[in-house]
Order: sequence, then C-alpha cells, then structure tokens
Amino acid sequence: MSTGFAAVPSAPSFRLTQARVPLCLVAAGGLAADRDGLALVDLSVEVGLLASILPAGTERLQDGPVLDLDGGIVLPRLVDCHVHLDKGHIWPRRRNPDGSFMGALNSVMADREANWSATDVRARMAFGLRCALAHGTAAVRTHIDSLGKQIGLSWPVLAELRAEWAGRIAIQGSPLFGIQFALDAAHVRDVVAAVKTHGNRLFGCVSYMIPELDAALDVIFRTAIENGFDLDFHVDETNDPAARSLEHIADAAIRHRFTGKILAGHCCSLALQEPQAEARIIAKVREAGIAVVSLPMCNMYLQDRTPGRTPRWRGVTALHELKAAGVPVMIASDNTRDPFYAYGDLDLIEVLREGTRILQLDHAGTDWANAVARTPAAIMGLEGQGVLSPGGPADLILTRARDWTEFFARPQSDRTVLVAGRAIDTTLPDHRELDHLMGGRP
Ligand SMILES: [Zn+2]
Repeated sequence: MSTGFAAVPSAPSFRLTQARVPLCLVAAGGLAADRDGLALVDLSVEVGLLASILPAGTERLQDGPVLDLDGGIVLPRLVDCHVHLDKGHIWPRRRNPDGSFMGALNSVMADREANWSATDVRARMAFGLRCALAHGTAAVRTHIDSLGKQIGLSWPVLAELRAEWAGRIAIQGSPLFGIQFALDAAHVRDVVAAVKTHGNRLFGCVSYMIPELDAALDVIFRTAIENGFDLDFHVDETNDPAARSLEHIADAAIRHRFTGKILAGHCCSLALQEPQAEARIIAKVREAGIAVVSLPMCNMYLQDRTPGRTPRWRGVTALHELKAAGVPVMIASDNTRDPFYAYGDLDLIEVLREGTRILQLDHAGTDWANAVARTPAAIMGLEGQGVLSPGGPADLILTRARDWTEFFARPQSDRTVLVAGRAIDTTLPDHRELDHLMGGRP
C-alpha cells in the first residue's frame, strides 16, 4: 500500500494550503496566475467535496487539520478520452512483428480470433483500469473492437465493469470497426443493439479512403441521428496525404445537420496537407463542431516507420492550428502494451509530459492541461470532471513539482491521488498478474 508523498489528514474535512493549480483548470474567480499559468491557493475539503479555492493565505485563522503542500502542483483527476482497454497488455503473446501499422492491425486480428474470450478481455480491461485509477484518472472512453462474435463477448464485459467501477472511474465505450462494415446492414444492426444494451449512446468507426466513403458515412450519421448517439471516429491514421476522410466526416456532419458531439482521433495526414487544403479542412472541422484528440505516443511509435530509415516526422496532427481555429483539442493515451503501441500504462501525466515534448505544447500558451482534463470531460459529457470547482468532488492529484519544469522533468511516481477527499492506494498492479493469459511466459 502506498499513498504517495503526501500525508493527507484522515479527517473528513481538512485544508491543503500552498497548492499551485493551473488557472485554466479552476472554476473560481479572484485568482492570479504566474508565468506558468499557475495560481497559489488554499483548498478546503469537506466530506468528499472541494469546498473552497482561495488565494493562499486568506484562511489562516481557520481551525482543523492542515497539510502544507509547499507550492506543489495540484491537478483535478484527469480524463482519458481515447483508450483501448480491450486490446491492452496482449504484447507478450502477440508482438507487432515490425512496428508498422499493418503489423499492428494483423497481429491484433489474429490475437482477437484466438484469445479474446470474455474472461480474457475482462481480466486485461480490469488491469488497465487499476493502472488508470492509481495514476489519477477519473474517466476513460475505451474503443471496443466490434466485429462478428466479438460484439457479443466484449460489450457485456464493458457494462459489468462500468457498474463495478462506478464512483472510481467513469467508463464509456465506443464501437470500433472499419468504415466499410457500415455498408453491411446486419453488422450495423448488431452493433447498434450492443450499444443500446451495454453502451453509452456512443457510435463510431475507423474512417479511411474507400470508394464508398460518403455512402458509408451517411449510414453512420443516419444511425446516430435515429438513435440519439454521439460519434467517435479513428481518422486518417496514416502519413498518406491523399487520406482526407476527416474532410468527408465534416462534410457529412454539415450535410446531415448533426447536432450531437463528434470526436475525431488521430487525423495524422492533416499535418501533411498543403497549407491551403489544411486550412480548408480545419475550417470545415470547426464548422461541423468536431473535436480532435491527438494520440502522440502511439503516433510516434507507428508513423513514419520504415526499416533502416530514421523517422523524419512525429506523426501527430496539426493540433496547434486546430486549436487556433477554435476546435476543441485534446490528447489521450490510446493503446497500452499491444501491437499498436508496445508501451504505455494509462498514465495521463505521462501523456501530458510526452505530448508536451512531441507536440511542443510548451511555449504555446499555459492552458494545455485542459487537453487531459476539462476539454475531454466536455466531449464526454462529464459535468464537474477535469476541473477544480467549489462544490465539486475532491478528486485531486497532488505532486511535489512547483512549476512545469519540475513537473515534466520527473514521472511524478510519488504523486498522491485523492478520490472524494481520501488518499487511494497508488500501487500499480504487477504485470505478472496477467502471465496466466500470456501462454505461460516468460
Ligand atoms: Zn485508438
């Protein structure tokens, strides 16, 4: 059992003084930020809720237990809007043979056919959730591979886990299948039934350039409108500039006058458009109300990989340009220890650290913490998550880092995580716990 560096009072009500909080993640006025966008505050916790957020030093005379954080950064628990719990941790039994996108696709397909029983999927998904909780994550949206027999196996597991984890991690599921399957009426019917029974009114697929793309997108949008679903797509995860399915999705959203939420993940090839085409597509994305999530660690792993050749680009979408145009932008974990990404642990502090380096989020404003907190909470419809607000939950991540250079220099492995005002065990589950599913490794 470990609860990190902080000796949090065990009383139901206490104060955390001298905390540094990103001003962009605080829903309270009267605070001034330093050059890092951080404000020095005193937080009071009352019976699981964050009662007040006041400038440091304004409540000195109040009685009760106090923990002085000595200027350490405090974040709300974070929100991971794009993960794959069902693929997680299969690496030991099914590696990516060459680190390529096709290698990942084919390896996962073979492993799914051979091994993805409800028991197997459940054990790996639960393992991922335990990692996420220990790292300080409050909510995840996981994609669920939804083809053939897997639909009936994975979706009931998702519903069971969502119920089991209520109060610790909010879980949403979004179906994942190639866009061409949208033209198979029986397939669409099966997925819609699974979403209605076990899902979160959330529908979507993987989009890429096929001749029938617009007709397939019409099916996706009509299905969403008929059923009141929001949409979530994997989009143009490729370095081929001819891949412009993002523009087709935006056109379809406008054509259908879609009023639900739309999240587009990856959009890698947008960064390889000529400037004029990029600007045109971004304007349509903005008009269509599409939000974009970049998956920087997975993109760095898969994109621009050629044997014997040093990669020349980072694989990430035009995130700064999208943000400047007013598109809600965010970053997320994506895959963990599977053929699409060999590493990862559902740690959003790692994602923010690596995202800052890969996407050069530093020197570009001080509100990028939104990308793993407030913005994904909004697209997921999670009121009060990913933000520090008086009257909201005392769901916090406490660190020793006093500014972003200290924060990003180290993995913050000694962080303390509070759920409803109580410090939780941040011990990570041992990978050995999954050995029995990995064919007797090592
Ligand atoms: Zn993904």
